[in-house]
Amino acid sequence: MSVRWGLVGASTIARQFMINAIRAQSDGEIAAVMSSSPERATAYARENGIPAAVSTLDALLKSDIDAVYISTTNELHLEQALAAARAGKHVLCEKPLALTSADARTMVAAARAAGIVLGTNHHLRNAGAHRAMREAIAAGRIGKPIAARVFHSVYLPENLQGWRITKPEAGGGVVLDITVHDADTLRFVLGDDPLEVSALTQSAGMAGSGLEDGAMCIWRFKSGVIAQSHEGFTTKFADTGFEVHGSDGSLIASNVMTQKPVGSVMLRTAKGEEQLSFDREDLYSRSLRQFHAAIRGEGQPSATGEDGIWSLTAAEAALQSANSGKVVKIDPKLGSMN
Ligand code: NDP
Repeated sequence: MSVRWGLVGASTIARQFMINAIRAQSDGEIAAVMSSSPERATAYARENGIPAAVSTLDALLKSDIDAVYISTTNELHLEQALAAARAGKHVLCEKPLALTSADARTMVAAARAAGIVLGTNHHLRNAGAHRAMREAIAAGRIGKPIAARVFHSVYLPENLQGWRITKPEAGGGVVLDITVHDADTLRFVLGDDPLEVSALTQSAGMAGSGLEDGAMCIWRFKSGVIAQSHEGFTTKFADTGFEVHGSDGSLIASNVMTQKPVGSVMLRTAKGEEQLSFDREDLYSRSLRQFHAAIRGEGQPSATGEDGIWSLTAAEAALQSANSGKVVKIDPKLGSMN
């Protein structure tokens, strides 16, 4: 039986990656798209070969669909996910799940009460590079992990220089946009959870309205690992990367904080250097495949609602730290605390 999807939001990410990822599944079908503007809904449906276009969530949820993919601006995710859960539709929601960790907890509780699958679209967990790193660490190939460094400062493409840099009320800013991914990828690769964060943010000339377009965070994990992450919208010439350094070796990954299955992972130990091989499956297709399996009762989405709570709590704590100048504790049950 196929999974019939309704797209909530006529977004760029759906057009660039998620429509293809759904259609890459042998049991995936896109039934309808919803935009708040009827004209945009119709144009988007036509351009992307989607059979139905609607302009209210109610109409979408009443149509013959099994699941929704929510990729509207961040302030809308909460109410849309709650409505979908009430209607008994599975929900794959973009990050950040909501504007606050409290709202994300409300979403996860609603999904559980409704018995639907809720996933967070943290694509980087699906990258072969990050899975290879996680496996190498779990297999003890770098000994005891000591420290990690994440390089995820990019240049925000011109076509995306909208609400992310102008609208605090829509959940703009680099921390809700990219730090959430870094927090999630650190958790995934290290197999560990962050306890606290200290962060500095900046406005380096792109973001307005008091929003930050650059952040540097320092994290302490339960195992004692310390990590740093750098997120930015304004660095035109930076590379991305992810390093984990352990007692017996280092993993050095280049060009892996991206939406494409590219990059390299090198393991360096006393024996020398080894390039790790990993699969190059499309990140978003893999996310969809896992989500469809979860609907069938086989396993969980690659990033669950709980993972989305974690990453948003971590990002919220980073923002709080940048505002207060203090180290902030991260507790997915309670939120962030000075
Ligand atoms: P877009 O700006 O492309 O789309 C967001 C919303 O903006 C749409 O839902 C749409 O509203 C509205 N919109 C789009 N085009 C126009 C227009 N021409 N005029 C007026 N309004 C317009 O956002 P993104 O695709 O970049 O991001 C959407 C979500 O996905 C965010 O939550 C973001 O964090 C997340 N994201 C996740 C990524 C990942 O890899 N996991 C990557 C990129 C984004 P309407 O639907 O009402 O038409």
